[in-house]
Amino acid sequence: MPIYGGIECGGTKFVCATGDESGRMAARSEFPTTTPAETIARAVEFFRGQPEPPRSIGIGSFGPVDLDPASSRFGYITSTPKSGWRDTDLAGAIGRATGVPVAFDTDVNTAALGEFRWGAAQGLDTFLYLTIGTGVGGGGMANGRLLHGLIHPEMGHIRVPHDVVADPYPGGCPYHGDCLEGLVAGPAIEARCGRRGETLAPEDPAWDLEAHYIALGLATWICTLSPQRIILGGGVMRQAHLFGRIHAKVLALLNGYIQAPEILEHIAQYIAPPALGGDAGVLGAIALATSA
Ligand code: ZN
Repeated sequence: MPIYGGIECGGTKFVCATGDESGRMAARSEFPTTTPAETIARAVEFFRGQPEPPRSIGIGSFGPVDLDPASSRFGYITSTPKSGWRDTDLAGAIGRATGVPVAFDTDVNTAALGEFRWGAAQGLDTFLYLTIGTGVGGGGMANGRLLHGLIHPEMGHIRVPHDVVADPYPGGCPYHGDCLEGLVAGPAIEARCGRRGETLAPEDPAWDLEAHYIALGLATWICTLSPQRIILGGGVMRQAHLFGRIHAKVLALLNGYIQAPEILEHIAQYIAPPALGGDAGVLGAIALATSA
């Protein structure tokens, strides 16, 4: 079977892998995201070091990114707040250095594609994949197609009700302050609590607040996009106890209005972790490559 390449480009780390159309991985490597030049060079080095060159490479990137094939900046990371990465020609640099076709999408759309092909979204045509970690991003499919539209969804930057008396933390988004990402991403938990989220006990009240904001976001997307399932990945969601809290709060917020057994009877399957775990992104990038 032909071999394909995938790169999951995150704000914290890059994951590179090769694999085939069955989703079997042949090689995998990860390294920290430093400067664009150094990080892209390490990714190129990974593919050059493989026994067989990939037929094509899929890239799922943090953003915002330019996904318009007609744009002169297709394949760029554009207005990112991540230091040093603004206006980076990511897909172009990888394509020129490796000499193979490149497919490009957001990190979350790519992870959604991985879950669609081999994971928790198989057989669905309208679903969401959210990551809650260093940042918050959302992607997915509507009617069998990855969500693109004008640019691509930026679901982490919606506004949610923020009770500043109960939660005086002003939010950490450099663009919006207390948008959803500004309130629930890993750095926001750390700034609000004065310590990293993974050091907080499961019974810490910070998690109830976290689940509250996430549930507000999910209720909004359930009502606007009518997803058949919502997959929640990312570093913060490795706190598995968050799922039960989110299920209860989403049910309370919807208050019986959406009459679907998937929600009313099977909420634990409806709002679920990625079946591919931490490899959803890089496997999705391999799936993307198969269409390049
Ligand atoms: Zn924001």
